[in-house]
This record gives sequence, C-alpha cells and structure tokens, in this order.
Amino acid sequence: MVEGAKPYWALRNDLFPEDGLVILGDRIVVPVALRNKALGKIHKAHLGIEKAKAKARQSLYWPAITNDIVTMIQACRICERHRPLNRKEPLIPHEVPKYPFQKVSIDIMELGMTNYLILEDNLSKWLDIKKLNSKSSSSVISALRQTFAIHGIPEVIYGDNNPLNSQECHAYARDIGSQIITSSPEYPRSDGLAEKGVHIAKQLLKKCFDAKVNYLDALLEYNNTPLSGMNVCPSQILMSRTCRTAVPMLQRNLEPKVVNVHAELKRKQGQTKRQHDLHAKVRSQVYQPGSPVAIRRGKKWEKGTVVRKHSAPRSYIVRTLDGRILRRNTFHLQPSKTRPDSHDTPMDVEGCMESVLNTNPVMTETHTETFVPTEPNEGEALDHDEDGLGQDQPGLDPQLATSHQNPSQSALTGRTTRAGRRVKPPMKYGYDE
Ligand SMILES: [Zn+2]
Repeated sequence: MVEGAKPYWALRNDLFPEDGLVILGDRIVVPVALRNKALGKIHKAHLGIEKAKAKARQSLYWPAITNDIVTMIQACRICERHRPLNRKEPLIPHEVPKYPFQKVSIDIMELGMTNYLILEDNLSKWLDIKKLNSKSSSSVISALRQTFAIHGIPEVIYGDNNPLNSQECHAYARDIGSQIITSSPEYPRSDGLAEKGVHIAKQLLKKCFDAKVNYLDALLEYNNTPLSGMNVCPSQILMSRTCRTAVPMLQRNLEPKVVNVHAELKRKQGQTKRQHDLHAKVRSQVYQPGSPVAIRRGKKWEKGTVVRKHSAPRSYIVRTLDGRILRRNTFHLQPSKTRPDSHDTPMDVEGCMESVLNTNPVMTETHTETFVPTEPNEGEALDHDEDGLGQDQPGLDPQLATSHQNPSQSALTGRTTRAGRRVKPPMKYGYDE
C-alpha cells in the first residue's frame, strides 16, 4: 500500500473523486501539504475548540483532524490570552472560632479622600470601622491597637497583603503574640463568610456617606441588629449583651445574657459551603517548578513560569515574562502550551532589578510598587496589578509568624533600640514551604 494511504483503507468505499478533489461524504479530503493552511483558515476567527471541530466537520477531512485542531488551539496564544476565568473551586472555610476575637479579618477602604480600617470578628461578625490618617502600616497598627485594647488580642488576623504584609505589621503581630495570614492577591475567597463582613461594612460606609449619616451611629445599629437567619446580634455574641441604641428597647432586653453560637455558625458555614460548591469545580492540577503557565492579570492571561508552591493551599509563586514574582491562587492559573507572541512583554531583568533598588522595602503609601524582601540574593520586583485589583506580592506564609520565633534565626544580625527591644534586619518574606 502507498505510504500514508493506510488510514484511508477503512474509508475506501466512501471516497470519491470530484473536480480533481477527493471527497468523503460532504467533506474535502485535505492532503498533508495543505493541512497547516487549512488549520489556519479554520481558526482564523479564533473560535473555540468545539466550534473549530464543527466547522471542520462541515467541509474538511483528514485522519486525526480533530487532534490537530485541539493541538493547534491549545497552542494559540491569542485564544489563551483571552480565555474566560477558571471556574471557582470548593470553599476551604476557616474553622469557626471557639471564642469572640479569636480570629479577625481586616481590610482598608478608601472613600471620599479618607481611608478606613474595617475589622470583623470572625465569630460574632461584630464590625469595627476606624478612620485612618493614612494607609501606612503605623496608622493601621495604631487603629488595631485601639480595638484590641477593648476586646483583646486575636490569635489570627486575616487580611490582604496590603496592608498586612509589611515588616512593621509582622513585627507588631509577633510582639503581641498574634499571627497574620494573608490571602492570594485577587483571590480573597478562602473564607466566604469572613469576606462578607468586610463587604457589609463597605456598603454601610458608602450609604452613610451618601445619606450624610455618621457612620458610627450606623455601625452601632448594625452591631446590635440580629444576624440574618439568627436570633442574636453581633454585640450579644461578643459582649453577651445588646447595647442600647437610638431605637428604644425594653430595659430587660438590655441586661446581660450569654449566648453560644459556635454550633449554629458551624451549621451555617456548612450550608454556605454546600451552596457555593454546587457550582464549583475541584482542580486537581499540580504545577511543578519550572512548568509554563498562563497567569490571570487584570482581564487577560499572561505567560509565566511556576517558581514554586506557596505554603497556602492552592497557592503558587509564579514568575511573569517580565520578571515579576507574583503569588497566585490556582483560580488564576492554567497550564500553558503556547509560545509568547509579539504582545507578550519580553524578559527585562535589568529594568526589574532597577525598580527593586529604587523601591522602599516596606509597604509604600502610593500603592504603585511594593517590594517585599525575599531571600538574600533574590531581589525581585513585586508590583501590584495594573487595574488595581490586588497587590501582587508573595504573601507571607501562615507559619512564618511562628518561624520567626525560631531560635535558629537569631543568628541574623540586628540592632537593639534604646528601649532595649531587638530589631531584626529585613526578614525573608514568603516562599518558605
Ligand atoms: Zn486562537
């Protein structure tokens, strides 16, 4: 048999010559030499794999045409760049706290030229909003101090890299015996429930701003209004009493009453998880260091390489083509089979190093570019996303707060303040497995 004719043997009774072409049913059989050109035509509009297959079924045929179409589209950088978002993954809820103010979540909100620190107690859902002088770490710490002075020091403080992933904030947390846990940039979804409180506070602030109502009055009402689906309000869970507000209330209902909502909250959390997971998809993809990936940045998928796994679940440290080191949740990663095209930024290590040298090692006020010290000799620029969705930095390991107390690290040189407090040099942030 002629070389290359074998795949056609089974079809020999359906093949017909017509106008100098070989026809299979309604489809033109494309010779090897013309297949690449045909693929280019099929994919000219950059439609997806299914559309391309359907188009081919309409008019063209060669053995393994479907495979060739799949391979071509998987390698198409244009299609990859504009791929839709991944489907969300099942929730990994934080464990419901055992007591009030064991765990809190914080966030910063900017409204009408003023910055606010929003804090939620993860058990009682009690909210605190404090005006900040600036977005600086010291301003955030001072606000936290005021709240902790009343309700105690939480074991864990959850929040975004900004403001929490600064040396100052970590030093403060170590000092008070607390642990900071940051979420992946652009993906603050590890606990849907914790996120909700911050969202509620933001809504409340916006509405008060519009209605010219003092937000503190509104905050008091919120904290003393029953939580949805429950018969208790945040203040009652936190302080075992409902506070007196502008809304009249019988005196006996203002007397202290202890409530324990742990079981109820656990049940609610399970409910939220089940609901969320109905539309979620488990991604089993594991990325090895060095493997090529597409990274979601803004509204597009950029090209990059996996540096290593981050200690947080579903979190990786990746390097973009222009040398940026980012932390990304698997929600914002996809395996990549494409080659960079002319729209991809070429590697620019020199420019990248320059920005490292010119950037303050702690959180900057302007949010334009932030450098977080990594390992010695591994200075790399870490900047934030162009569209301001989140801070692109390697987050700090949840374990890091404790690892800092490890005596093996005391070998690091440091200095002592006049008050006698030991100040360590920039720590290696992030990255440790
Ligand atoms: Zn394409």
